[in-house]
Amino acid sequence: MDESCDRPEHDFDRLEIWRCPQLGNPVSFKYCRIMNNRLPCSRIVSCWGGTIDVMACLRQCFSTEELKQAFGAPAKDRLTRIIETIDGIPAEPPEK
Ligand code: SF4
Repeated sequence: MDESCDRPEHDFDRLEIWRCPQLGNPVSFKYCRIMNNRLPCSRIVSCWGGTIDVMACLRQCFSTEELKQAFGAPAKDRLTRIIETIDGIPAEPPEK
C-alpha cells in the first residue's frame, strides 16, 4: 500500500503493533490511520486504545464526517483483503 498521505505526520505514526489481527504482521500507526482509503481502520480504537489516545489523534487529522465514514463500515477481514489483492493482479503476465 502506498503510505504517502497528504495529511500531516502525526507524532505516533512510527509506533508499531507487532501483529495486526487482520494482516498477521507488524503495522505502523500511520498505516492504521490511513489504510481505509485514506481513512482510519475501523478497528483502530480497539488495537491502539491501550497505547495512545487514539481519538485525540484522529480528531486532529479527520473531520467528524470522515470519522463517521471510517467507523460506520465494518473492517474487511483477511480473506477479503487477499481476494481484493488477487483481483488486482493481471490475469496474464505482460508479453515481452
Ligand atoms: S487498526 Fe486495523 S490495520 Fe491497524 S492493527 Fe488493528 S486491525 Fe490492523
